[in-house]
Amino acid sequence: MTQRFDILISGASYTGAALALALTEALDGSLSIAVIDKAPAGFRPPESPRAFAIAAASRHLLEYIGVWSAVVSEAQPVSEIEITDSDLDAAVRPVLLTYENALDDNEPASHIVPDSAIAGALRGKLEAANLTFITGTQAHDFDTGPNSASVTCSSGLQLEADLVIAAEGRISRIRDQAGIKTIGWDYGQSGICTLVAHSKPHHGRAVQHFLPAGPFAILPLPGNRSCITWSEKTNEAQRIMALDEAGFLREVATRFTGRLGEITVIANPASWPLNLRLARTYIAPRLALVGDTARGVHPIAGQGLNLGMRDVAALAEIIVENARIGLPPSDPEGLVRYERWRRFDSAVSSAAFDGLNRLFSNDNPVLRSIRDAGLGLIDRLPGAKSLLVKEAAGLSGDVPRLLRGEAL
Ligand SMILES: Cc1cc2nc3c(=O)[nH]c(=O)nc-3n(C[C@H](O)[C@H](O)[C@H](O)COP(=O)(O)OP(=O)(O)OC[C@H]3O[C@@H](n4cnc5c(N)ncnc54)[C@H](O)[C@@H]3O)c2cc1C
Repeated sequence: MTQRFDILISGASYTGAALALALTEALDGSLSIAVIDKAPAGFRPPESPRAFAIAAASRHLLEYIGVWSAVVSEAQPVSEIEITDSDLDAAVRPVLLTYENALDDNEPASHIVPDSAIAGALRGKLEAANLTFITGTQAHDFDTGPNSASVTCSSGLQLEADLVIAAEGRISRIRDQAGIKTIGWDYGQSGICTLVAHSKPHHGRAVQHFLPAGPFAILPLPGNRSCITWSEKTNEAQRIMALDEAGFLREVATRFTGRLGEITVIANPASWPLNLRLARTYIAPRLALVGDTARGVHPIAGQGLNLGMRDVAALAEIIVENARIGLPPSDPEGLVRYERWRRFDSAVSSAAFDGLNRLFSNDNPVLRSIRDAGLGLIDRLPGAKSLLVKEAAGLSGDVPRLLRGEAL
């Protein structure tokens, strides 16, 4: 038997869950919503050594869907950002750019939040929400007809919806089945993450060391703890990940500098292959893509999830506005508006992160002097720094209402 919904979201991770919760909150039962995910009922995301830089705009969305209150005790406001650019074995790492990470009203432009906290809070909220949560199966086939889109799950379950939203991450079955091509490339790098405890306080300062192999970020967490997010060439990352505890600690310590005192690794490290993947279009009849399914970027600026939350806020705003004037979620003009709103902005951001990675992840002396001059210039221009902070907070451009802290 086929089950029918107004909106079907495939993927219940960060963006799929956030979208489902935002729509449920705003629509108050006026449209039926279903979410599918392959993890079984009662699943709790495993402990993760990763932490996210959550921009102020994304925090506003998490507040609206009631998730921020569940993670705030584990979130560290970032008070200051410091950027260095030097060789791994340089005796000192000169600070090229430093700025206060606060918006005009002193609101922090970003917080660092453990992955496990956000993933767990979203999952808990989703399970309690007024929607249909189909667990333990995944979308397998996707098709569209004149009156609905249909999804067949791996379990054989048949679903129909007015609009299907793919929030399936970078590898998306529904995106492929809809014939939407992607462009992109591998960076030949892996992102390594771990958590460390240190004997001295970080005072909320986030540090980005641009090292020749890639950025090494020290992201502050509550207490004397930080998350390390670090890019290395793939072969070197594999070597580092294969080291024993003492060997791994030595690699971290070499890159860390001694400023935070003695360090201890307190979480098993994990690594992710880094690549760029951009969908050629974000929509098809009765289909919209959000999050990494639309665009997966290099984590150099810690913005992948933040861009996904921008998709969520824009799409939720359009669906809710349309619903209030009697238009269906799949309204073609609404989908075109979504694509226009998000694709250009995403393409610009993706190109910027790609360019940053190319500019900084190398040891070319000419490029180094250009980038160091650029960073030095920004450091001396107070106006440039506040623009940078607003951009990183996700509050520049055409900002969807949920990201400005307004209700739908
Ligand atoms: C090392 C690293 C550090 C990062 N740091 C940051 C940061 O500081 N700040 C930031 O903003 N971003 C950061 N990111 C990016 C961020 O992790 C991603 O943008 C984010 O995870 C994307 O979320 P998503 O919900 O779109 O997709 P995913 O998290 O990939 O989730 C996809 C979900 O869909 C499900 N799924 C897949 N296929 C199907 C199917 N066929 N049917 C049903 N379900 C399906 C999966 O099981 C999963 O639950 C980082 C990334 C890396 C690799």
